[in-house]
Amino acid sequence: MVLYDACTQEKLTHHNPWKKSPQPIKKVRTVSMISIRSLILCTILLVISLEVKAWHPDDHSRITSLSLESQTDRLLDQQIAYVPLQHFLDRAAAPLGIAPTPLAFALYFGVDPAIPLDLPDSTEQKSGSASARNILIFHVNDPDDGRDATLYARTADGNVQQDAAGRPVPLYDHLFFMGGPETQAYRHMEKPPVSCSRLESTWGYPFGELGMASDQAQRYFTLSRLARAVESPYWEWRFLACAVHYLQDLAQPYHATQMSSHGHYFWRALRVWLMTPHVSLRKSVAQLMQNSHQWYESYVASHSTLVMQGLTDDTRAEAWLVALRGETTDVFPWDTPEAPVRAYAKTIRDASNRIAPDLLTSVYWMSNAQLLSAYPFDYRRDPPDTFLRTRRDLHFMQGESTLFAVTTEAFARAARATRTLVQAALRN
Ligand SMILES: [Zn+2]
Repeated sequence: MVLYDACTQEKLTHHNPWKKSPQPIKKVRTVSMISIRSLILCTILLVISLEVKAWHPDDHSRITSLSLESQTDRLLDQQIAYVPLQHFLDRAAAPLGIAPTPLAFALYFGVDPAIPLDLPDSTEQKSGSASARNILIFHVNDPDDGRDATLYARTADGNVQQDAAGRPVPLYDHLFFMGGPETQAYRHMEKPPVSCSRLESTWGYPFGELGMASDQAQRYFTLSRLARAVESPYWEWRFLACAVHYLQDLAQPYHATQMSSHGHYFWRALRVWLMTPHVSLRKSVAQLMQNSHQWYESYVASHSTLVMQGLTDDTRAEAWLVALRGETTDVFPWDTPEAPVRAYAKTIRDASNRIAPDLLTSVYWMSNAQLLSAYPFDYRRDPPDTFLRTRRDLHFMQGESTLFAVTTEAFARAARATRTLVQAALRN
């Protein structure tokens, strides 16, 4: 994995501050070197995790699978033959007003044309079909396949457009404030507008909404409806799986807030910058945000896996699975003109935003010094439990208890959103 600085898009070096330097004298910055400009910049920037996955890939499928256990609609278990995207395009290109080619569709939908959008799951490949339920479970991770990264305007042949100075043209305004065009953050996260009553979780520039996860949910739901209308049932369910993905993302509190406005992390990043040679303030802020976000996802995934495999009797982790297996749904806002999924997604976003400060504070108090440093935590390499604080003081105990409780709430919300959207699709 290559990490990029949220502000400059420079590659982050995998500098390990814990490794002994051959330099006998360690350079320590003095407070006089603090650039006021950098401080103000970092306070207003949405500096976020750059490899944004909301839930661990296993968790997206797990949320979908467990949340649908209680749904016994016959249609969910009907077998549907796998067909490539071309099947949908041959029927839907005219209503979409595009040529029936994958490139035209990629340009229309603003996704990277280099990413194949119709790779089958191994089961689909083997048997040639899957149930609607399994299409949802297999493909709920599709939007994390890279299609939403490299958010640049493109020419008719799919190449990235360049401005007069030869620089690539970003697809949206304000991408700079959310990971930049090379990351998928902008489409998988959404910060609500600044609210005086919830300043800590809503603060950030620009002061209105930032990100488009709720738009993405609506766009894929609309495609799913179109696929049904043109009788392409495989794509009806596969596009619905993508819409579900963004709702599940918004149920993850890290995806609905601006981390740099949470005081603990900003001040810790300042300390890391002062104490670590060769690391800029912006990089230290970005790395701490990345570590916190990735560690949380990894910790939740590893404890979910333990409880699924019966390898732990931690009742707090068992409560996550109970929350996922619920039966309830939300009231779907059909009477909202034009975009009910977008409106529904925003209610999920706002609920997640409200619990974000508690979660971020909890993760902070559970993290050891290495996780709160310039060390680049990587979920593929680093076991999350080895980054827990060893001193189990009151802060740690309260943090741990809050993390499990908040995650139970987030899982319950993600599962309810999954059932709600699937039921909305089944009933309409
Ligand atoms: Zn996502």
